[in-house]
Amino acid sequence: MIVKDLSNSFYPCPKNKIPTKNTKKEVLKEIKKQKKELELDFCIMPKSTKYSTVRTKKYSERHEVFFSKAYRMKSIKDGLIVFLTEEMHRGDFGVHGKNGDKLNRYLKKVAQKAWMDYYKKTEEDFRKRYGKLTVDKEKKNGR
Ligand SMILES: [Zn+2]
Repeated sequence: MIVKDLSNSFYPCPKNKIPTKNTKKEVLKEIKKQKKELELDFCIMPKSTKYSTVRTKKYSERHEVFFSKAYRMKSIKDGLIVFLTEEMHRGDFGVHGKNGDKLNRYLKKVAQKAWMDYYKKTEEDFRKRYGKLTVDKEKKNGR
């Protein structure tokens, strides 16, 4: 057998810092969780010039479209992620940047449509899963 399972060769992304107060067991559990999470690069977003739907060298930063604590994992599971350059992700005009509101809103709008199309759901289904007025309520301090 030539094909080797490489899934255990990748380590969690360093930006996901592990709180130091955790016990060793908790840390290991957290690493496992993050690893699993990082393997999910499933994306249902339509292709666009504003982002990439696959991870590339240039578009190396994954952004969860609904990145607040309550919705981040749902975003990942549902494929509502995009890949951005460092600048588009964390720069001043990046989605988390101080001038990033427009891009943030745009991504959420596109994501809602993609989600309803892909899962054959209604706007109400969407609101049930991602909350009412998600765009307006969400703060820019997530990842
Ligand atoms: Zn992000």
